[in-house]
Amino acid sequence: MAIIIIDPGHGFVETSEDEDNSPSYTYQNQETVYEGNYNRVIAKKVQSIFKTIEGIKVVYSVDINSNEDTPLDDRIKVVNRYNKKTTVLLSLHSGTSSLHDERGLELWTSIGRVRSEKLSRNISIEMMDNLKRFDSTFRFDYIHNVYNRDSRFKIMRKTKCPSISFGNLFYDNPKDLMLLKNNDFLDELAISIVEGTMEFVNSSIKKIDEV
Ligand SMILES: [Zn+2]
Repeated sequence: MAIIIIDPGHGFVETSEDEDNSPSYTYQNQETVYEGNYNRVIAKKVQSIFKTIEGIKVVYSVDINSNEDTPLDDRIKVVNRYNKKTTVLLSLHSGTSSLHDERGLELWTSIGRVRSEKLSRNISIEMMDNLKRFDSTFRFDYIHNVYNRDSRFKIMRKTKCPSISFGNLFYDNPKDLMLLKNNDFLDELAISIVEGTMEFVNSSIKKIDEV
């Protein structure tokens, strides 16, 4: 049995106390887009596919039906409840850039985490294969030092299982936003995440189970 933990980053409600927990971008036409909203949309799609696979238990690190951000420490506690050898953490995010001109899919892993790097490779291959027909960009050369202040790196640093942080496009870029609203694209993205993760599970986790 492998455990897949889906960690949708951030909430998407206006909270005057701490707006950092609900990152958003307002376009010139006054449309406000919340990162946490798309993180949850993708999380639900990924979860619904994993749910159908035998030998997989899929859990969320947050209450998926709440729009509020879940404190980082709580999410870390959820992850660390599970055996690191049979668990995989998928932390879902979407990015922004200062000039709103960056685009693409990113995968972030942590330096020196061999299993995370393997998981990242498995997922990136599926993404490039399955998403070819869409106007998407791939920026998979991101293997980063996890000692970054960003919470998405902190959750990777404080947990022991293989983990990936996804930058699922840039929601402040109009072309990427079109993809984030494209249900076909999101379905294929979710399939790619599941297929890549399952490749990792089948090659790296089942073997541990058998020992
Ligand atoms: Zn984020």
